[in-house]
Amino acid sequence: MTKTKNCRCNSSAAGSAPAARVGRRELLRMAMLGGGAALASVLRDPIAQAAASRREQPAQDAVERATRGMPAPRIRDVRVIQVGAGGINDSTVVKVETDQAGLYGYGCATDTFPGGRSKLVAAAVEQYLKPLVMGRTADRIEQIWQICYMSSYYKNDTILNCAIGGVCDALWDIKGRQAGMPVYQLVGGKCRDAAEIYLHANLGTQDPSRQFVENSMKLVQGGCRNVLVAMFERDGATTNVYGQARFDDGSAVFDRDEEIRKILDAFTAFRAQMPAQIGLGVDVHSILDPIRATEFAKNLEPFRLFYCEDLFSPEEAGHYRIVREQCTTPLAIGELWNNPHEWQPLVQARQIDYIRHHVSHVGGFTAARKIAAFAENFEVKFAWHGAPNSPVGHMTNLTLDLTCENFGIHEHMPYPPLVQDIFQGCLQIKDGYAWINEKPGWGIEVDERLAARHPITDEHANEFRTADGSVIEGTG
Ligand code: MG
Repeated sequence: MTKTKNCRCNSSAAGSAPAARVGRRELLRMAMLGGGAALASVLRDPIAQAAASRREQPAQDAVERATRGMPAPRIRDVRVIQVGAGGINDSTVVKVETDQAGLYGYGCATDTFPGGRSKLVAAAVEQYLKPLVMGRTADRIEQIWQICYMSSYYKNDTILNCAIGGVCDALWDIKGRQAGMPVYQLVGGKCRDAAEIYLHANLGTQDPSRQFVENSMKLVQGGCRNVLVAMFERDGATTNVYGQARFDDGSAVFDRDEEIRKILDAFTAFRAQMPAQIGLGVDVHSILDPIRATEFAKNLEPFRLFYCEDLFSPEEAGHYRIVREQCTTPLAIGELWNNPHEWQPLVQARQIDYIRHHVSHVGGFTAARKIAAFAENFEVKFAWHGAPNSPVGHMTNLTLDLTCENFGIHEHMPYPPLVQDIFQGCLQIKDGYAWINEKPGWGIEVDERLAARHPITDEHANEFRTADGSVIEGTG
């Protein structure tokens, strides 16, 4: 993220007195220039009066002339909508309303994994960002993004980044709705028709290799051409698909060597029994120690993966160079990575093949486009993290997939019926591809009354531990 200083100069605009912000001369000039609608809006709405500074107004007048006399929408309200849909499908969405009737937008602020610290994200939106953006011109997305990002002395905190992503992606939705176009049209149009997906296949608890092949075959018969298995089920307290033992508090016992054996055996069965062209991947979730992880990457090489994800955590990034020098297993870094200082050196040194940030973790669509462009310069592809996420977030991911050259693959998780009822207009999966719905903005409408009946209630924290009780990693 580029740290620019000049955005601070307007940071107090929303809090200035209306009378001092729009003088009589400006009001007369607006009327003479044919901006009658804008003038009426300013006179009606104290929020709109508050937003236009003397220095901004001439530039904003020009914008309104360029947009055929339509007054620029101003932010009238910012709200958080949270949906509890069974842990893995929990989501947080921000709604930004404008001073123009019926013009609003939604942006995804989901902090990944069950519940995702949802109370903290809601507070960051409502108590910290909302006061910053109220009354501002909704069409200045880049400027508002910079104002929000610079509002904290400490950057790249996932909570604040999710809040920024939610607010600013709602502004992209507003701009698309105002233009009557999907967001992909606002950034140059499509460079591909649809995005190839992968789905998750589990090992099962009884006969992991056989069950993995059976589960994968069902997905392939449905049209999917790529499957991925995670080395553990993340939401350990609600499901236990791999049958690990439990401590009294629900934390799972994780035997690293046993789990490695399960995966390698399952991949041997997969390649022996599945069609050769079916793509295969694994997410390690950085749960192995470095020497086991290095050996594991080498042992994966014969299985021709599309990628091995999060072999190491950001704290162990130096090990990627060692693995790169020893095998050709494609490497992806995942949802753990949000600070540019963590991942940029790996991209520049060609030590990874895919970046797959959780888009709201890095600040949403505005930030992700820049990350994609950076990676494109080094022939590194992207595959945004897609599980869990809101349907608004999935549509944001898909828009990036369709508009950026270095798209790799799209992670998809099917939505349960409740999520499809609340978020109307979800992307469509057909023949192994994700298709956008072509409606303005992100193309998603939210049934807010139904959402209000399903709050997030099952946030919980526990750990994966070795059998002696040593903590490996948290699950929340
Ligand atoms: Mg992952």
